[in-house]
Amino acid sequence: MSRMPVIFFGHGSPTNALEDNRFTRSWAQIASELPERPQAILCVSAHWCTRGTAVTAMKNPRTLHDFGGFPALNKVQYPAPGSPALAEKIAGLLDRKVGQDKSWGLDHGCWSVLVHAFPEADIPVLQLSMDIALSSKQRFDIGRQLAALRDEGVLIIASGNIVHNLGTMDWNIKSEPYPWCSDFNNYIIKALQDDEADKILAAESFGQITGRCHPTPDHFWPLHYFLGTRQADDNLKIYTPQVMHKSLSMASFVFNPPS
Ligand code: ZN
Repeated sequence: MSRMPVIFFGHGSPTNALEDNRFTRSWAQIASELPERPQAILCVSAHWCTRGTAVTAMKNPRTLHDFGGFPALNKVQYPAPGSPALAEKIAGLLDRKVGQDKSWGLDHGCWSVLVHAFPEADIPVLQLSMDIALSSKQRFDIGRQLAALRDEGVLIIASGNIVHNLGTMDWNIKSEPYPWCSDFNNYIIKALQDDEADKILAAESFGQITGRCHPTPDHFWPLHYFLGTRQADDNLKIYTPQVMHKSLSMASFVFNPPS
C-alpha cells in the first residue's frame, strides 16, 4: 500500500455543500487525483474544539447541522459509517489521552467538503477534536504522530480556512480582498511552498492573526495538524488560493508523496 496524500480543505460557508462552484469542483478533483481509494478518512475540523483530545468512536456517526440560518442544509445527510476499531488505534498512536467519543458525529467542516469529494459516503469517517489548551507546536506534534496512518490507507484531512473573518466579509462575489488578508494568505502559502513550518506555527503570535485574519483561531488550527503529517519528500499542490468576500481564504492544499 502506498503512502496516502494529506489534504487541507478551505471549507468556507456551509452552503458550499449544496453548491457547484470552482471550490467544490476542486474538492472533487482532489479526491479524483488520489492514488487509491482510502480505507478510512480521519478529519480534523475547525468546528470541533474540546477540552482534551477525542476521536469519534461510534459505528454510525450522525450528521451534525451545527449552524443556523440555512434551512435547506438541515436536510443534508452524510451517512458514512464510523470505525470504532480505528478510533482505538488512533488513541494508541498519540502520546496523550484520547477520549473515545460517542456523542459528536460529523460536523459541517467535515461533511460539507466530503459530499463533493466522496459523494457515495461509503468510506468510514472519523473526526479528531482539537484540544483548545494546546499550543501550535502540540497540534503539529499530533499531526506527526498521526502520519503513520498514511501508510495504512487512511486519508487524513484538515478542514479550516487560512483567513477567516466572517465579521468583515462582503457577500459580493466580486469584492476585492483586504490587503491584510491577501498578505497573510500569501505569507502562509509561501511558507508552505518553502516548507517552513516554523513560520506558520509562530504566526499565531502575530497581532493580525487574532485581531483581523482570525478573530477566533479555530479555522487556523487544523493547518497545524496538517503540517505535522508532512514527510520530507512530499510535494505540495495548491488549489484555489483566492481570498473571497474580502476576508475568507478558500485555499486548499495537498501533500502528495512522490509518484
Ligand atoms: Zn467553518
